[in-house]
Parts: sequence; C-alpha cells; structure tokens
Amino acid sequence: MAWRCTGKTNRELIENIIKAKILSSSSESQLERISNAMTAVDRAHFVPDKSAAYVDSPQSIGHGATISAPHMHALAVDYLLPFLRPGAKVLDIGSGSGYLCAVLHNLVSSYAQEDPTKVAVAGKVIGIDHIPELVDWSLQNLKKDDRTRRAVENKQIEIHVGDGRLGRPSRPYDAIHVGAASPTIPKALVEQLARPGRMFIPVGTDSQHIMQVDKDAEGNVSETQIMAVRYVPLTDKDKQTPW
Ligand code: SAH
Repeated sequence: MAWRCTGKTNRELIENIIKAKILSSSSESQLERISNAMTAVDRAHFVPDKSAAYVDSPQSIGHGATISAPHMHALAVDYLLPFLRPGAKVLDIGSGSGYLCAVLHNLVSSYAQEDPTKVAVAGKVIGIDHIPELVDWSLQNLKKDDRTRRAVENKQIEIHVGDGRLGRPSRPYDAIHVGAASPTIPKALVEQLARPGRMFIPVGTDSQHIMQVDKDAEGNVSETQIMAVRYVPLTDKDKQTPW
C-alpha cells in the first residue's frame, strides 16, 4: 500500500487513501467524515522522522513501538465509524504516538460552525499505553495543535499509563481500538464495550488478523475476521522493552 497512498503533504496523503478505495465506508458523507478527521491532524506532529511523515508506512517511535501506517489508521476508523458519533466514548489501547486519539477526537466531538474553536458536542477519547515515556510524548504531540491542546486541557482527550489489556473499567465504551496484537481477545475489553459497541483488535502471534467484535443492544457478542495484518504485540512492559 505504501507506494499507493504516500503524499507530499498531509492533505495529499489522506486524499490518496480515500482514492485508493480500500475503505468499506462508501457514502460520500462517511468518506468525508474520515477525510476531514484525518486531514485536520498533521501526522508530522506524531513522528520522530518528519521527512517521512506523509509516507504510507509505519515508523519507529522508540521503546519497541511503531506509529501505524496511515492507511491502517484509516481502516480502523472506517470499521469503527458507525460508533464514532459526536458524544461517543472511545478507548484507544496502545495509544503510542497519540495520533489516533487526535483523529478519534475529531469524530466524537463536533465543533460549532460559526466558531471552529468551540466544541458543540463533546465526546471522550481515552488512550492507554504501558510505556510512561510514550504517554508523555503523546501528550506533547497533542499540544502542538490548538484544537487537540484544548481537548487535552478540557479532558476530552485523556492518555493514561496502564496495562491496556485491563481497559479502564469506569464506563462502557461505544468503540474500542486496540493498536497492538493480542494473542486472544481480552475479556475485560469485551465487558467494557457498550450495548451496542464495537471493538477493532489485531489478534494472533505468528499469524495475525484484525477482528471486529460487536456487542448488540441485548449484550450478544459476535466476532468477524477482517484481514491479515502485522502489528507489534500487546504484551508485558518488560517483554516489549527488555533492555
Ligand atoms: N497506535 C499507536 C501505537 C501502535 S504500537 C500509534 O499508531 O502511534 C503499539 C503500542 O501498544 C505501543 O505504544 C506499545 O507501548 C503499546 N502496548 C503494547 N502492549 C501494551 C499493553 N499491555 N498495555 C498498554 N499498551 C501496550
């Protein structure tokens, strides 16, 4: 995919992802929501190598972690989109650079048309990562842009240090994104899904697949296998950074 979606600017990168027709959202308004949410977040704020910010591939962010390729972030948002309405609560496990928290914020919080600095409907995005240095860095990254800086100050975006496999049990979540591959689907995360709610999670060790886990209004849970992928593992902190 790298050769297809890379752009010279952030806007061009997102345009190329939309044009590549890899997303399952097909209506103009769905694609526009994804495009607007991603175009408003400059990926250069979230990568160590700025010269490769708009290249459609993962990039190392240190501590055994990578920021995912932009088309993978777009696909994650695409699958979760029906649950990312303004006012929704979202959990981002393995939040790493903070990039996806910024994109998710733009989908679950809506801004007043007459004043794009004013939040009309506030949603909530909670990121969790087990590497404290990455949590600090992601918060610095989010402060490079006025909109996400205010969202952090107003707690519309929170990022916490913790073991993401346990989630954050204070509330049900309309959507849960997991940015690292888990050997199995963590029970705590399924429990924390709202009725209805949806989780996007890479599952597997040697061979990995994205699984979409849906909980319906009655609490019934179903799993759908989406595609083969390659993510860093959702694991113990000392296994990820043994040095
Ligand atoms: N989605 C992020 C990062 C992806 S890399 C981005 O695109 O920037 C996967 C992340 O999962 C890493 O930051 C890693 O530290 C984190 N991680 C791995 N196991 C974890 C666990 N048990 N709990 C919380 N975070 C974990």
